[in-house]
Amino acid sequence: MTSSPTARRPAEVLLVEDNQGDVLLTREGFKRSSFPVNLHHVENGEDCLAFLKKEGAFAGVPTPDLILLDLNMPVMDGREVMKILVADPRFCHVPVVVLTTSANEQDVWEMYSLRCSTYIVKPLDFEEFQHIIQVIAEYWFSVATLPGARP
Ligand SMILES: [Mg+2]
Repeated sequence: MTSSPTARRPAEVLLVEDNQGDVLLTREGFKRSSFPVNLHHVENGEDCLAFLKKEGAFAGVPTPDLILLDLNMPVMDGREVMKILVADPRFCHVPVVVLTTSANEQDVWEMYSLRCSTYIVKPLDFEEFQHIIQVIAEYWFSVATLPGARP
């Protein structure tokens, strides 16, 4: 039995992704998983930071339990977001799963150096993509213990 906060309430997941097809696949994948998830979506790194800071249109949003972060996005990419998150004591506890089409070794190395929690290369097959989302849900909301709010 996990003491994770998501055992008691739906998990709040922030998807940072500019590809609408991948957004739909992610949404469907969580729907197919047996875990209650509130999926929030922003399209670039700048909006990710505004969401976390609950600025402007994001006033009142929850602090996410988990961030799914694309790397290549307009305005501000995933690498820049990660550099800022890891250096900010308000957000450095939130696990970040990098979910990207890039299998570039430099990207993998850089993102783990910035202490991402997991690096996953998006599969091209959409059934496999949805399966991976379900595996993410099972791991993070059942196996892992999440930090939730600061005790
Ligand atoms: Mg992208």
